[in-house]
Amino acid sequence: MTGSPTIGVFALQGDVREHVKMLESCGANAVPVRRLEELAAVDGLVLPGGESTTMYKLATTFGLLEPLRERLAEGMPALGTCAGMIMLADRIEAGIAGQETLGGLDVVVRRNAFGRQVDSFEADLDFASFDAPFHALFIRAPWVEKAGADVEVLARVAEGPAVGRIVAVRQDNVMATSFHPEITHDDRVHRYFVELVKRS
Ligand code: GLN
Repeated sequence: MTGSPTIGVFALQGDVREHVKMLESCGANAVPVRRLEELAAVDGLVLPGGESTTMYKLATTFGLLEPLRERLAEGMPALGTCAGMIMLADRIEAGIAGQETLGGLDVVVRRNAFGRQVDSFEADLDFASFDAPFHALFIRAPWVEKAGADVEVLARVAEGPAVGRIVAVRQDNVMATSFHPEITHDDRVHRYFVELVKRS
């Protein structure tokens, strides 16, 4: 692809504006996606943080669930952050009754995995291919409990009770983080994704 890719941010629920800003600072043309025509026009999609149970319900109500699954199955690049990671997981643990995902990543993701005591925390992560640590913000975050053979682990928790837990992954054009890269001022995760979209 030449020029700026158009990257959508799923906008029925979650922290949409922060992602739009980050993507634009990385040279993408960022647009909110709430309707089918908007989904059809994007080269890649961000699924933001928020609440995965609500995202699932709204995606169903707005008729976007199957179209999203189709685009992902056709190879549309996607970045899921926090609730977005849950949405992109093929399987989840600790979902609510009947909660479904879009799928796309061959992983098992556990919702609210870090427990109530540590609802929110910050940590420095070694992120694959970044030459300095990434300061990550976690808010009622999931982690990747199991990753399939084709899934590349991009980051793990480096210390504390959850040491070794997988918090960033990629499989082909689909990537996900347990944390919120859109909230900090470090745009390296978004740059990584914009490059993925350009190469797809
Ligand atoms: N706990 C939320 C969920 O299950 C995710 C939290 C977040 O996105 N910050 O969807």
